[in-house]
Amino acid sequence: MTRRMRGLAAVAAAGLTTLTVAAAQGPSPAAPKVVTVDKVRDTLYVLKGGGGNTALFLTAKGAVLVDTKLPGWGQPLLDAVRTVTDKPVTMVINTHTHYDHTNGQVEFPASVEVVAHENTKRFMAEANPVYALQSGPQPNIFKEHGGRGMPSRTFRDTLTLNSGADRIDLHYFGRAHTGGDTYVVFPALGIMHVGDTFPTRDLPIMDKNNGGSGVAFAETLAKAAAVSGVTTIINGHNATTMTPADVKTYSEYIRDFVTAVQTAKHGGKTVEDVVASWTTPAKYAGYNAPQPARVKADAEVIWGETK
Ligand SMILES: [Zn+2]
Repeated sequence: MTRRMRGLAAVAAAGLTTLTVAAAQGPSPAAPKVVTVDKVRDTLYVLKGGGGNTALFLTAKGAVLVDTKLPGWGQPLLDAVRTVTDKPVTMVINTHTHYDHTNGQVEFPASVEVVAHENTKRFMAEANPVYALQSGPQPNIFKEHGGRGMPSRTFRDTLTLNSGADRIDLHYFGRAHTGGDTYVVFPALGIMHVGDTFPTRDLPIMDKNNGGSGVAFAETLAKAAAVSGVTTIINGHNATTMTPADVKTYSEYIRDFVTAVQTAKHGGKTVEDVVASWTTPAKYAGYNAPQPARVKADAEVIWGETK
């Protein structure tokens, strides 16, 4: 088992269903890599499997992809795009640095423009282990491919790409899942991809090794929930689309967890006490019960940020 496969197994153990499938398939080169295609609008599709949810947006100039899945999934992803359009993939936008959202693009032609937040470009170059999931230095897939797939265009606060029906707005609202989380808005469609700042209805990874924060998370996400004109949300890993109201509720869920951890710390308790006592408040209907390892990892991050 390679170091990367151990990392995938760790992610699977942490409870991300889509990655559980990938990890189970990973060790066998013969295992089929299946990308499923969900149509959301005539010009917007969600491509699932092999890591994070990929958005496919069809513009006059070509196809735009938001995120590119696990290592080895770049060609299967391109094959899935081909079932929808003959347009070439001209641009990739990354929501954040993690390998299950970026590694497929090393298999893309060098002509594809890659756009990401400036911090995400730095984290991709650093190949830092995901906090509490990976340990030690990670293989740098972009370096191994001579820099292929690294961002060629970056932004700091906001960036508008294209115009009219093809317009895409990128926003950075602060630290959350990582320190480079990008919200990708398709204004003509009222759709926003929020990446792993809202992966699914469960505690998120707060990846402090890549700039993530527990204490800042809820406030950052509340800003995303307030972007005007958005009606439909694409999550990092969830099976169906959601709404901005769901994003708002998720930010409140995280705020409640942060408050519980901070109350425990100020009350002389320990992280282990939080792991033993925290349960999802009843008002968050339909939320998963988080894995104890995730509760512990997130509580540790919040603990370290709390005076
Ligand atoms: Zn992630």
